[in-house]
Amino acid sequence: MNNFTYVQAATAQEATGLRKATPTAAYIAGGTTLLDLMKANLETPSQLVDINHLPFKGIEATTDGLRIGAMERMSDVGEHPLVVQQYPAVSESLLLAASPQLRNMASIGGNMLQRTRCGYFRDAAFACNKRLPGSGCPAQHGDHHNLAILGTSAACIATAYPGDLAVALAALDAVLTLESAAGKQRKVPVAAFYLLPGTTPQRETVLEPGELIVAVTVPAAAHARRSTYLKVRERASYAYALASAAVGLDVQGGIIKSARVALGGVGTRPWRSPEAEKVLTGAPATEATFRAAAAAALHGAQPLNDNRYKVELAQNTLVQALLKVAG
Ligand SMILES: Cc1cc2nc3c(=O)[nH]c(=O)nc-3n(C[C@H](O)[C@H](O)[C@H](O)COP(=O)(O)OP(=O)(O)OC[C@H]3O[C@@H](n4cnc5c(N)ncnc54)[C@H](O)[C@@H]3O)c2cc1C
Ligand code: SF4
Repeated sequence: MNNFTYVQAATAQEATGLRKATPTAAYIAGGTTLLDLMKANLETPSQLVDINHLPFKGIEATTDGLRIGAMERMSDVGEHPLVVQQYPAVSESLLLAASPQLRNMASIGGNMLQRTRCGYFRDAAFACNKRLPGSGCPAQHGDHHNLAILGTSAACIATAYPGDLAVALAALDAVLTLESAAGKQRKVPVAAFYLLPGTTPQRETVLEPGELIVAVTVPAAAHARRSTYLKVRERASYAYALASAAVGLDVQGGIIKSARVALGGVGTRPWRSPEAEKVLTGAPATEATFRAAAAAALHGAQPLNDNRYKVELAQNTLVQALLKVAG
């Protein structure tokens, strides 16, 4: 790990000012992602700007829906009664993530910016287009059993965001509030926050240098109240998703009035599926409909030898999640 200085910021202006003054500085919240990357020499900030004292707090109902401050901890949000009752997919995605100790440390903003678990990215001895553009992608002919089958490119097949929360947020039309160094705020839907790898896998989000995540807002809706997050992983104690599904349905008289679907663990970014939602909307809430939606969601999958199993796994995960909320 390189040497670095440490400074606390009390306001957003102070934090962005410090980043502007030292472009090689990095924000630190819970540190559960950043410190791992620093120990592996994958991130080498010259200064850590501690943003834990920024007033990006609150878990509250507003006229826009649920508003969560970026500095709130995963455990507090996942266990909050408003989130549990009105946005179950968000609560479940948080409580199925990581371990209790990690969830007590980790912030909502930091969760959105966690990095891929691709083993080649995390080991500087290997080439990796995401870490060193143009160096190659050994995963394509090597170990890719846990990598993506949707949205991949010749340059990168990683699940760039390997976590859970952003999948639920993408499904439920959540919007991030970002604040620039100039103090300007802008809003970006979670589904548009993450970029496809294309030829530039090193660029993962639309976040500009020094920009802060302030909060996330989830619109209130019938399909949000009737939502769930289902995660399939290699061990139940804690592990990243091999496949996951966040779904929300509004069913009236046996007919689906509105549907929201996103997949995790299978896309290069949290994978919202308008194709599945189109099949579901206006159709009877039956297993046959859910199977057709799952086929549509995975239609464009481009698996390799060792992650081909994810096509069926993701389809079955999605069907089970839909059966759960429809039941
Ligand atoms: C062993 C292990 C298992 C895990 N399992 C899961 C899992 O199953 N599911 C899951 O979803 N996650 C999992 N995680 C990831 C975990 O959720 C993240 O590490 C955590 O959410 C990051 O939050 P943090 O506050 O600690 O971020 P930090 O490590 O402090 O920061 C992460 C990055 O975000 C930046 N950042 C932080 N906050 C902001 C902000 N407000 N604005 C702009 N930039 C910001 C930092 O500069 C840094 O680049 C796991 C992590 C570990 C170590
Ligand atoms: S899949 Fe992406 S992150 Fe993994 S080695 Fe290839 S370029 Fe790097």
